[in-house]
Amino acid sequence: MLKLNKKTFCHILTILFSASIAIPAYSDQSMDLIATRSSSYTQLNDDLKYLTQVIGGRPTGSTAMDTAMQWSLQRFMAAGIDNAYLDAYTAALNWQANIELGQMTIADTNKVSKVRIAAMPFSESTSTNGLEAPIYAINSTDANEILLHADKIKEHWLLVPTTPMNTMEDLFNEYFLTPSILSAAQKVGAIGVLWMSNRAGSLLYRHSVSIDGKLINLPCALIERQEAQKIIELLKTDQPVLFKATLNNKLQENPRNYNVIAEIKGVEKPDEIIVLGAHLDSWDLGQGAQDNGCNVALVIEAARNMMAMARLGQHPRRTIRFVLYSGEELGLYGSTFDVINHINELDKIKAVVILDIGSGKISGFSLGGRSDLLAITDESLAPINKLGPFTQTTDAFIGTDNYTYLLEGIPTLVANQDVSHYLPSYHAENDRFENVDLEQLKLNTTITSVLIWNLANTKQDLPSRQSSNEVRELLATTGLQQQMETFNLWGKFLELEKMGR
Ligand SMILES: [Zn+2]
Repeated sequence: MLKLNKKTFCHILTILFSASIAIPAYSDQSMDLIATRSSSYTQLNDDLKYLTQVIGGRPTGSTAMDTAMQWSLQRFMAAGIDNAYLDAYTAALNWQANIELGQMTIADTNKVSKVRIAAMPFSESTSTNGLEAPIYAINSTDANEILLHADKIKEHWLLVPTTPMNTMEDLFNEYFLTPSILSAAQKVGAIGVLWMSNRAGSLLYRHSVSIDGKLINLPCALIERQEAQKIIELLKTDQPVLFKATLNNKLQENPRNYNVIAEIKGVEKPDEIIVLGAHLDSWDLGQGAQDNGCNVALVIEAARNMMAMARLGQHPRRTIRFVLYSGEELGLYGSTFDVINHINELDKIKAVVILDIGSGKISGFSLGGRSDLLAITDESLAPINKLGPFTQTTDAFIGTDNYTYLLEGIPTLVANQDVSHYLPSYHAENDRFENVDLEQLKLNTTITSVLIWNLANTKQDLPSRQSSNEVRELLATTGLQQQMETFNLWGKFLELEKMGR
């Protein structure tokens, strides 16, 4: 059992909630006061403002991302962490949108109008002058419908209808549907795909066509919902519609990308490492605030909390490593290469805590199929239960930076959060600073800081790395294997497994 030393814990809270105000001894009753004091995280607010409003959207490979890396490195150093650095890796391909113009012509009347579109990441560019062809709209997202209407779709833009996204399931479903639809579109000779935005009105977002960073040999663009609906109505009344898209995407082959790493050495077990991570990169249409600037600010603030304690003589027993990943949106590049770059110390990594669902209330942690993490997570969060309640889940999914660690048998914890602010702005133009719930972000910072502090300090042995056989079993029982198969990631996993890990 985790034995929380009350004195030590009180000390953490003293630092976490304010250096300037006298803090009463920790007790359950002090939680309201603690919640109020979390408003002393002024730098958290300033950091998020700078990252989102000054630096802005930051796709990996962009100048904004370079600025964000240098800035966050400086923030770790300013927090007093000497061991902070950029960790380089070479990825296969960086993809950025560049020119994205859409125009429709109603053939009968020759009426031409502009349509807002957003290139779909990892799809192909058109020629410089654009690509014009008639549209064919299918009625459902069933790929079989595409195959059934092969003759009509050939040499057309294929318009894919979507239903409005309201839940996390809807979001995942859109990703699950994409591979089969694109492969059917390629098979029947569509010249490109127009994907109806699943947000109301004219709101655009980036929807990637590839989960493993491979280019799809077909121009694809998201099209504003209201215009897509108009087009469908026109087609229903037998009025042909021509669509012209000009897409000029920027590709960087074998780019040098960087993760930002900062580390506080443990004093008793320096060879046991607790990782706290969030991805620094974002898509470019908005400011990358909910996804994932707020959690970058949280990680930096958590580092400040740990350093503030260190200055008062409270050093963690285990090493705490803070990682801000690049290339997450491109296909989990940064975390995948973090595993590769630290391949010889994977046995030392005892837990990887990831935040990537915006600033919504943390309801607990998803333990990546590991029920052996339940007790230690519950106990680590127990002192701040009033900020909960916290319920851990043992599900496993593909979608954020814990994935590659999980495949390596390393215990991972991903914050489960309320998605009501996160989903409407997911990868979209409205992912901006003003949509972040700053008060909840402060509470999440406290929750996460306490969690990693307790993981780093527990006298218990932490659950160990799983063997390949145990990982295989976990993938089967959690359904993760099935997800990997859907996204064509299973073969790659088997290949890596063969090479030995
Ligand atoms: Zn994210």
